[in-house]
Order: sequence, then structure tokens, then C-alpha cells
Amino acid sequence: MTPSSNRQDFGEFDSPLFRQAVAQFDAVQERTGIDPGALERLRFPKRTAIVTVPVKMDNGETRVFFGYRVQHSLTSGPGKGGLRYHPRVNLGEVSGLALLMGWKCGLIGLPFGGAKGGVNCDPTELSQRELEKITRRFTMEMIPFIGPDIDVMAPDMGTDEQVMAWIYDTYSMQVGYNVPRIVTGKSVELSGTKGRREATGRGVVYCIEEAAARLNIPLNSSRAVVQGFGNVGSVTTQEIALRGTRVVAVSDVRGAVYNPNGLDIAKLTNHVRSTGSVQGFAESEPIDPEEMLLLECEFLVPAALERVVHKDNAGHLRCRVLAEAANGPTTVEADRILKENDGVLVIPDILCNAGGVTVSYFEWVQDIQMFFWDEEEVNQRLKRIMSDTFRACYDVSIAEKTDLRTAALTLGIRRVASRKAMRGLFP
Ligand code: NAD
Repeated sequence: MTPSSNRQDFGEFDSPLFRQAVAQFDAVQERTGIDPGALERLRFPKRTAIVTVPVKMDNGETRVFFGYRVQHSLTSGPGKGGLRYHPRVNLGEVSGLALLMGWKCGLIGLPFGGAKGGVNCDPTELSQRELEKITRRFTMEMIPFIGPDIDVMAPDMGTDEQVMAWIYDTYSMQVGYNVPRIVTGKSVELSGTKGRREATGRGVVYCIEEAAARLNIPLNSSRAVVQGFGNVGSVTTQEIALRGTRVVAVSDVRGAVYNPNGLDIAKLTNHVRSTGSVQGFAESEPIDPEEMLLLECEFLVPAALERVVHKDNAGHLRCRVLAEAANGPTTVEADRILKENDGVLVIPDILCNAGGVTVSYFEWVQDIQMFFWDEEEVNQRLKRIMSDTFRACYDVSIAEKTDLRTAALTLGIRRVASRKAMRGLFP
């Protein structure tokens, strides 16, 4: 029996996150009104590459890492999606994330298909030299699979502007000419765009503003709790604090800190810069990271890992808005519980964190033209796209008496699937 004829068989892709992404897809298929044949083709990725990445470590040992790249669909344009360095990375996780990227690009209307990649490694235990070797060898192994019009990577958990610079350099050296479009999320000096580093966090806060306006929550007398203080979490806290919201608790992989009067984000950022963690921040008290998620607040923002809101804690959340800055932070069971609880509005990941891929698209476009925009232009365009997309999802959710996730998935999947249906099936 083929995987697609047995709806419970996920084949090589099986993993909790892949099952979660497929369950979300299956739940809205009928609503899209698209031919089931076109939809069936989107249930699994179009193609995947698994490579081994041998590296001589600083201590002289040779270690072999596993690297992955998954292209969910190339119907609307090149694959687009982050590259993650984390010890939990595997084919199933990357594939689930690639599906989410596909719906996200569809929802925003970008000329990209969803993709995702990763290397199974722990970047916190690697030297810069080892990180560079892993990145360059991974890129080399992926040369036949990627390209500026085939598949374009960007930063995700554990990767940053420096990793993108190494990929850009390795790819350009191999093909023999300068190809900045091979990655987005580069530094501005290397043909990146202004505003990309901040884009995901800014987009999260634009969505929170839209939600707050509809729920009559004044931002300047609200509280936020943020899980994760990397790229997305740190920018989200800075942006929301600028609007007068008290950020009462923040966590990272090492621990969580709490101050009911609001953490001083500038001082916390300096503390993280010098110590590497939020832990031990002077103007705060430690709090159990799991308990932190249950604090009473207006905005709860998971900005780290997937599946952190699950059946055991979903019923105990005390936020008004759950803003999914991370990809896949809410399990299917938790989502069901939250749907029954009218008190929590969930801004789904494919909407909430879409600012990153949107400004990645701006970067790709600027790199084609070699004509660069100022930051104000980037931010204005981002804000307009995020606000319009939030409104579109919200209007569908009201008209169809459903939740925002269902609305966002329906719009995103409908756009990808209708293009597939119009182009037809080869041969
Ligand atoms: P990052 O590597 O910059 O930061 C990750 C943060 O999460 C770090 O502070 C780390 O300490 C923390 N963390 C890790 N494990 C944790 C745990 N168990 N508990 C609490 N904190 C933990 O990554 P990022 O780029 O900020 O990405 C965060 C999330 O946002 C991911 O789900 C990613 O897929 C998603 N995302 C990122 C972007 C982007 O532009 N970077 C775009 C869209 C979505």
C-alpha cells in the first residue's frame, strides 16, 4: 500500500511535527474547495535530500553529521525556508516545517514554494571554526539541490547572518561567480536587506497589534510573556516594550526570569550579550520555565521550539492572545482545547511569524535588481502586508465562524493548491 492510499502511513516522514502539519492540512482540505487530486499532491514533500557532513573537529576527531533539505512544492517559485542547527533535527521535523513554509508563502502570496533544512548538531557546543566547516561542507553537498531560482535558504534556530555568509561564499566559489541570491538573511554589507534581522519579531508585534485592536486590549497597559530570546524572541520583546507593554517573563534554553513590574529589555539584552543567557539577570527572579507559560498575561509568545503548548498545559494558559512566533508550537490536541476556550485568541504560526519570509522575499528581489531600499520602506511594506493578511484571515474566521488557524491554513493552502490544479499534472 502506498503512503498516500493509507492516510495513517507517513512513511519516511513520520515524526510528531510532520503528523501535526498533516493533521492541520487534512482538517481544512474540504474548505479550500480545490480538486482533491491537487490537494493529495501536497500532503508530502516534492523532494528531499539527506547528506552526511564529515568534519574534522578541533580536537582532531572526525565526526559525521546528518544534513537535510526538503522542498515541499516548487509550483509557485523556488523553495524558500530556513536552515536549522539543532540536536533534534531529523527528516520528519524538517518535512513538517517545509509544509508549514508552503502554506505561509501561499498565505502571503509570495512567489516561492515551502522548503526547510537542517543539520543535526548542537551549535552551542561547537567552535566557530567547527560551525564554519559544517556549514561549508553541508553547502557543498547540497550544491546540486539548491540555487537562487531553485531553493533559497535563510536563518532559523541555531543559524544566523554569519552562517548565511558562509553558504553564500561556498556556493559562489563553486559556481565561479557572485550569487548573493542563494541565501537571504545576510548582513546588509553582504547584499542583505535592512530590516531582515528584525522582520520576524516585528511581524509578530504587528499581528499582536491587530489582535489587540479587535479584542480592545490596550497595549500600553498589558503584559507579555516570551519563550525564547534568540532572534525572534529578543526582537519581539524589544518591539512590544516600545509600545508600552510590560514584558514580565522571558526564558531561553537555560532558564526563565520574571519581574511582575516588567523586565528592562535593554538591560536584559546587555546581560544576554555578556553571559549568553537570560539566567541570572539582576532585576528579576528565577521562575520555572514550564510555570512561566501559565503566568497570567495578555500576550503569550512562544518563540523557541515546536510543541510546547500541549494537552497538559493548554487548558491552564492564562493569556488572552497566544502569538505563535515559533513554528508549530501548539499540538493538535492543545489546539482543540484552545478552540473550546473562547478566552484565548491564537494567532497561528503561518501568519504570526510570516514577517521573516516576507522580508526575505524583499531581500531576494533587491538582490535581483542590485537596488536597495531604506529601512523605512522595508518596514512600511512589511506592516502593510502583515496587517492586510491578518485582516483577511480575521474576516474569513468571522464569516465562516471558525478560528484564525483554520482561516489562515484555508487561504494559504487554497492558493498553493489552486496553482497546482491550474498547471495540471505532468505527464
Ligand atoms: P534562535 O536560535 O535565534 O533562538 C532560539 C531561542 O530559543 C534561544 O534563545 C534559545 O535559547 C531558546 N530555546 C531553545 N530551546 C529552548 C527551550 N527548551 N526553552 C526555552 N527556550 C529555548 O532562533 P530564532 O531564529 O529566534 O527562531 C525561533 C523560532 O522562530 C523557531 O521556531 C523558528 O523556526 C521560528 N522562526 C524564525 C524565523 C527567523 O526569521 N529567524 C522566521 C520564522 C519563524
